Amino acid sequence: MKLVVKFGGTSLATVKDIKNVVKTVDKIAKKNKTVVVCSAVDGTTDELIQISLLVEKGNKKDANRMLAKISQKHKQFADHLITNPKISKSLSSKLNSDLSELEELVNGLILLGEVTPRSYDYLISFGEKLSIDLVSFSLQELKNKSMPLSGKEAGIVTDSNFGDSRPLMDTTKIRLSKTINEHLNKNLIPVVAGFAGADQHDHTTTFGRGGSDYTATIIASCIDADEIWLMSDVEGMMTADPKLIKNAKLLKQVSYSEAIEMARFGAKQIHPRTFEPLLSKKIPMRIRSSFDVNNQGTLVTLPHSKSKDPVKCVAAIRKVGLLDLTGGILFAGPGAAAKIFSVLSKNDINAMMVSSNPSESSITIVVKKEDLHRAENVLEINLLGTTLKKIETIPNVAIIAVIGSGMRGKVGIASRVFLAAQKSNSNVMMIAQGSSELNLAFVVKDNDCKAVVTSLHNEFKLNTIK
Ligand code: ASP
Ligand code: MG
Repeated sequence: MKLVVKFGGTSLATVKDIKNVVKTVDKIAKKNKTVVVCSAVDGTTDELIQISLLVEKGNKKDANRMLAKISQKHKQFADHLITNPKISKSLSSKLNSDLSELEELVNGLILLGEVTPRSYDYLISFGEKLSIDLVSFSLQELKNKSMPLSGKEAGIVTDSNFGDSRPLMDTTKIRLSKTINEHLNKNLIPVVAGFAGADQHDHTTTFGRGGSDYTATIIASCIDADEIWLMSDVEGMMTADPKLIKNAKLLKQVSYSEAIEMARFGAKQIHPRTFEPLLSKKIPMRIRSSFDVNNQGTLVTLPHSKSKDPVKCVAAIRKVGLLDLTGGILFAGPGAAAKIFSVLSKNDINAMMVSSNPSESSITIVVKKEDLHRAENVLEINLLGTTLKKIETIPNVAIIAVIGSGMRGKVGIASRVFLAAQKSNSNVMMIAQGSSELNLAFVVKDNDCKAVVTSLHNEFKLNTIK
């Protein structure tokens, strides 16, 4: 098989974790043509972001201190990972060269006292550049041929939208498949840095937080991989958050559309565009734990047949707040909603869930808790007295989403959902269902969250799901 295996930062958090990852790859690569994609060592991207904040504040001392911390951590890891003196020397020279590039960059930024979107991407791409050195040279220590490649070196070409770039798939496919296939044909394991590529002017770009997942699926699509595995510290997709529901079960199989929905609702932290490159080629994905390699995890694939389980998962989004906007006669006629959303969007506030009634007297919007107060303010300044008659806010609510493609066209699901909410004694404050019927979402007080999820989990017997 041709495999792309991606390891998240939590799977690369300590020397022991990296050794475990390398042992796993060593085993997999004996039977499969394997491409490895790595996130940064856990916490490194946050530290790099911290450096950029310190630079902007003109705090040179702490920026350098943070830089020294990153450098020390990776050098220490290298010392503990490699015993062969020759490999150790090569790793240390590669690390030194990457670390001095980072140091030069940080010094340059300090001198300028500013971080542009372009230099920010260049800066935060270093976590992955360093982690692939550790993994690739450790694979060599186990007598594999391996090479670390940055996204740019691998051939990932993107647009110049720094911080949220997209791959130019045609160019990427030509470059990347050539580079990667050449390596694979020489029985070499390429270890590619996740999260970043380069635009057509060779400037480093990133895909946004969590972007290594996206790197892995871009590669899988370009080389026509047979499977892609996302390995992290979780078993796979679950029927509910195991921190909330003790008997939450691992889902053995979900469809692409269910997985996309679950990822959106935070059932597993996955970069939002991860699935895009897989859809046209229908490459199967496994979401698995790097700490429990005997566990097959969740297979994300085309649905085999219409699932008999209408609901697969109950997800909860917490830390959100609700805005209840009343218009009265001010709302009458077209344009009120457009005005509201334009004010929110100009202020960079995302409306996560929206519901309005046909009487057109009110609109209810859910936003992130940290945006709630600002949303209230900007709407008050711009629209109160003209479009809006009253603005009410309710902090501390939670969105509960019932997810499963088997709900589509099935009679009686909504009544079971709300009966379950009633059984848990929770008041439903707002409801939304898209016409795809992939999810049914509603809002309750955050205090009711656990009770309602438990009740729904029981109602749909998710602890016995096959
Ligand atoms: N290291 C990056 C982040 O922490 C990308 C990733 O982990 O996928 O967001
Ligand atoms: Mg990460």
